[in-house]
Amino acid sequence: TELTEDWLQNYVDDWVRFYLRHTENGEVASYIPELQRANKLDLGISIVGINGVKIKSGTVDVPFTIQSISKVFTFITACMERGISYVLDRIDVEPTGEAFNSIMHLEMRQVKKPFNPYVNAGAITVASLLEGKTSDEKLNPLLNLFGRMLGYRPKINEEVYRSECDTSIRNRAIGYYLLEMDFLESELELTLDTYFKQCSIEIQLDDLAVMGMVLANDGEDPKTGTEIIPRQIARLAKSLMLTCGMYDASGKFAAYVGIPAKSGVSGGIIALAPPRIRNEYLPFLDGCGIGVYGPALDKQGNSIAGIRLLRHIATQWDLSIF
Ligand code: GLU
Repeated sequence: TELTEDWLQNYVDDWVRFYLRHTENGEVASYIPELQRANKLDLGISIVGINGVKIKSGTVDVPFTIQSISKVFTFITACMERGISYVLDRIDVEPTGEAFNSIMHLEMRQVKKPFNPYVNAGAITVASLLEGKTSDEKLNPLLNLFGRMLGYRPKINEEVYRSECDTSIRNRAIGYYLLEMDFLESELELTLDTYFKQCSIEIQLDDLAVMGMVLANDGEDPKTGTEIIPRQIARLAKSLMLTCGMYDASGKFAAYVGIPAKSGVSGGIIALAPPRIRNEYLPFLDGCGIGVYGPALDKQGNSIAGIRLLRHIATQWDLSIF
């Protein structure tokens, strides 16, 4: 077969149609009432190559909130502001094997610091490290970072933000525990407010693919060669995506899909394939970011159809980094 962009597009269209049936077996997140309004049967994918190739298919134009995917980028922002060692002195880089909002594991540790920046305890601690006296000040550099990657500054979805605040008992419990342990570097209410706001940033599918592509390219804008994220920080963020990015299914995702990814409860997944020296299947899509949106979730909180679609694509196109 001659490998063309059209050929790839047809494949992706077929696969999205095929995996659409799995959306019925999942459930839209309901613990934050505002998220329940999502359409369970949506499924879409967007792929952006470092070389500029673009492929998208399915539901690609529904805005959604970034949720836990924000944790990757607040971690990056904190490392850029404070330095990697400062951040890693306060948050570990080990997977938990527990749910994202687990409290149990906080007490289990000898060295009692949060396990990693992609579970809530770690992410709330990261939010406390961001510089600024208000949540808007703290999130300004994050939104600027998105701006540099996407070419526009995303907005906070106020309804989701309110809904997060109103249903935050578990996150408050985690916050109080962190406060008691002396982990937080800014006041509790400010820290939580920052965390709820960062989760409520509204984006679209293409945005995830573009952000993934920048990470795949080690933080550099491929068009201009400008550094958006320092290489060492981009690599650290990606390694944590691989080990901790998919909730308590991270191990399986690394084994069966084998690429760095991070999911969120609104049904988004950001994933990426780093460039290879040689990939015979995709000579013209060498290194890419992949965004997936499918709000019907499995029991671990990952997009039920999205995760299957990603696994299929990674297998077919030999994307595993191993
Ligand atoms: N707002 C969510 C929370 O309850 C983020 C969860 C997620 O996407 O995993 O913390």
